[in-house]
Amino acid sequence: MTDSPIWHPFTQHGLREPIPRIARAEGAALFTADGRRIIDAISSWWVTTHGHAHPRIAAAIADQAARLDQIIFAGWTHEPAERLAAGLRAIMPDSLTRLFFSDSGSTSVEVALKMALGYWLDRGEARHRILVLEHGYHGDTIGAMSVGARGAFNRAYEPLLFDVETIPFPVNGHEQACLDALERACRAGAAAFIVEPLILGAGGMLVYSAQTLAEMRRICARHDVLFIADEVMTGWGRTGTLLACEQAGIVPDILCLSKGLTGGAVPLAVTMAAEPIFQAHYHADRARMFFHSSSYTANPIACAAANANLAIWREEPVRDRIAALAARQETRLSALAEHDAVHHARQIGTIAAIDIGAGAGYLSDLAPRLLAFFRERDVLLRPLGNTVYIMPPYCISDEDLDLVYHAIEAAIEQVT
Ligand SMILES: *Cc1c(COP(=O)(O)O)cnc(C)c1O
Repeated sequence: MTDSPIWHPFTQHGLREPIPRIARAEGAALFTADGRRIIDAISSWWVTTHGHAHPRIAAAIADQAARLDQIIFAGWTHEPAERLAAGLRAIMPDSLTRLFFSDSGSTSVEVALKMALGYWLDRGEARHRILVLEHGYHGDTIGAMSVGARGAFNRAYEPLLFDVETIPFPVNGHEQACLDALERACRAGAAAFIVEPLILGAGGMLVYSAQTLAEMRRICARHDVLFIADEVMTGWGRTGTLLACEQAGIVPDILCLSKGLTGGAVPLAVTMAAEPIFQAHYHADRARMFFHSSSYTANPIACAAANANLAIWREEPVRDRIAALAARQETRLSALAEHDAVHHARQIGTIAAIDIGAGAGYLSDLAPRLLAFFRERDVLLRPLGNTVYIMPPYCISDEDLDLVYHAIEAAIEQVT
């Protein structure tokens, strides 16, 4: 805890906060080395969909690891990747005909941006301006940060970030300002618009309507601006449907998936693209191929885990579980929303969020106080500033969900 050489992500080691050691996990429960049981109310940072250590995913990983662990993917292929590609084609929108593997949400976004630029280069139009949505988050690599909101997270790196055009967030009742700005920016010419559909995650669990999302899509299509849907968080049922885009009845030109792709067990990402984007890179000329790779592209073990995830979606009542969790969240959230200190209660599918007290930034002292409070109550919640959100694995029990909400109520009473 104190003298480990490990440098943790988004952690100020100088505050010397305790870092619990987890030894085992099952379903929605984490177990510490010293025997505590902690409820994972944020799906271990939005990745765990079906619960920890799902037997089917664990078995697929073990089996694949003993069979074929890794193979270069430039110029070679393997059965788990081919099966996964077919499985994704069967479940994802028809027009997304091609898929490119990488290993994290951030890299899936980098790949999407590079695909978009390659597409415009091939079309002979030097379009490279990227449109982004205010408060967006797309990852922590330089390109992904460039298309995300600027702030305390990335101030130190700002000189390295490329310029983008930010479209105002469609605040409830002011959607037209957002849509007008998007229309103007598209008319001025842009390579692509990247957006988190229906809910902006790291930006504070900010929700906007499916109707606005559909209108954004229409505007981009009208001006030939590529529409990139970053469904890294929203994908795999989080918002109630397999993809958030479904609720708006839209299909993007490029789709980024990661987090729940393996059920949250191992890292893997995929960027799916419409055929013209692939064709823009399809030539007899080696200089015009898609220049991107990482060592573990389409790692067979990760692909096997993703295949197990797809099998779970096909064969287990995942959609029923999601609908049931959404209903349970709704009941509890409406009770919590009664509280005076609770503002802006919102929910979409399995994700519920509230703001506590008056507005405060990510670095306000409320968040660490809440974090410590929840840690002491054996609940894993990680507020974004004064926003507390609940995004559990779909298998969380009623009793555990109650414990989570009781902890939040107690926190509101004691911490605010
Ligand atoms: C988490 C997230 C990312 C980044 O994914 P990593 O796997 O952490 O790199 C990108 N986009 C969205 C919407 C995310 O929520």
